[in-house]
Amino acid sequence: METITGCKICGFPMEYRPNLYVENGICGACINAKAKKHIDFKARQEWLTKHLEQSRQLNWGAVDKNSYDCVIGVSGGKDSHMIVKRLIQNHNVKNPLLITTYDESTRTQAGVHNLNNIAEFFDVDHIIYRYKPKTCKQEMKECFEKYLNPYMLAELRLGSFESEVVKIARAFGVRDVFYGEDAAFEYGSTKELNIFHTQSTDELKFIFMGAIYPYGYVDSMQEARSVGFKDLQDFHEWYRQGSVEHFAQIDSIGYMVQYWCKFVKFGAQRTTDMATRLCREGAISREQALLYINEADHILDPLAKYDICQVMGISESHFDKIVDKHANTNIVQKDANGVWRRIKKVV
Ligand SMILES: [Zn+2]
Repeated sequence: METITGCKICGFPMEYRPNLYVENGICGACINAKAKKHIDFKARQEWLTKHLEQSRQLNWGAVDKNSYDCVIGVSGGKDSHMIVKRLIQNHNVKNPLLITTYDESTRTQAGVHNLNNIAEFFDVDHIIYRYKPKTCKQEMKECFEKYLNPYMLAELRLGSFESEVVKIARAFGVRDVFYGEDAAFEYGSTKELNIFHTQSTDELKFIFMGAIYPYGYVDSMQEARSVGFKDLQDFHEWYRQGSVEHFAQIDSIGYMVQYWCKFVKFGAQRTTDMATRLCREGAISREQALLYINEADHILDPLAKYDICQVMGISESHFDKIVDKHANTNIVQKDANGVWRRIKKVV
């Protein structure tokens, strides 16, 4: 079997990620993880408290004393819990506005619990924004058929500077919007860990909490658990196939299919991302990460597939047909069971 060499530290098969920078056989994500140790996060945390105080002063002049301190985009997941907890406990935030953009996939029990918990535990205002359901599902189907990326437009409404979250923040006259990790830095496509999203303006700052506290799965998980976050195992509801863990991206069932779609297109998806991240954080060894990369990354959880087909209103055979159309046959090939597998083994 043909082989390719993964990152010396985490095992990531580097040729399968467009935009990933690589130096001496080490992937950008590992280089960045090391660089994080030299960032003065304590100074950034002190800066944030002062910055929020300044925003409050500016806001009170313009609006009124009951206005929101900031907006936090939340899915209800572990990162959301971590962000809300830290802003309230460490940065003097008293009245944040939480905003969730509704996902049309079926919510898990853990997802329902967590979304409820995040507002209840901290007793804060929470807007759940649902975009036109029929249009949303139709757009998901179109994005899936055309780009093999069902959440392409939904993700823009969620996390970009043009998102509904930012629009709502503006409508309430809020100056700071918080998000979790800066994916470009965490996954190694940029070298700078900037506090602000590049499109931030004088009136509205889009702040990455992952630039204020060193972002980590294990860290987020511990913080979230301490304020009532629960995962899939707590409810024994869904043991996901092909997954490295049961605590990340657990809000809804069909959502994770978009990640799997990257496997047939680029040759690596979320399982590889999670395994290499956990290796980087010292939770598993490179050898263990390679096992997940080679033996689990190709697996599409059957329940997730069923759920997203229901949402998009298509049959599973139509789903398979679209996948086959987009599969990159230079990278993946079908095995005897008709399952798309990576051609090369990662070593
Ligand atoms: Zn690496």
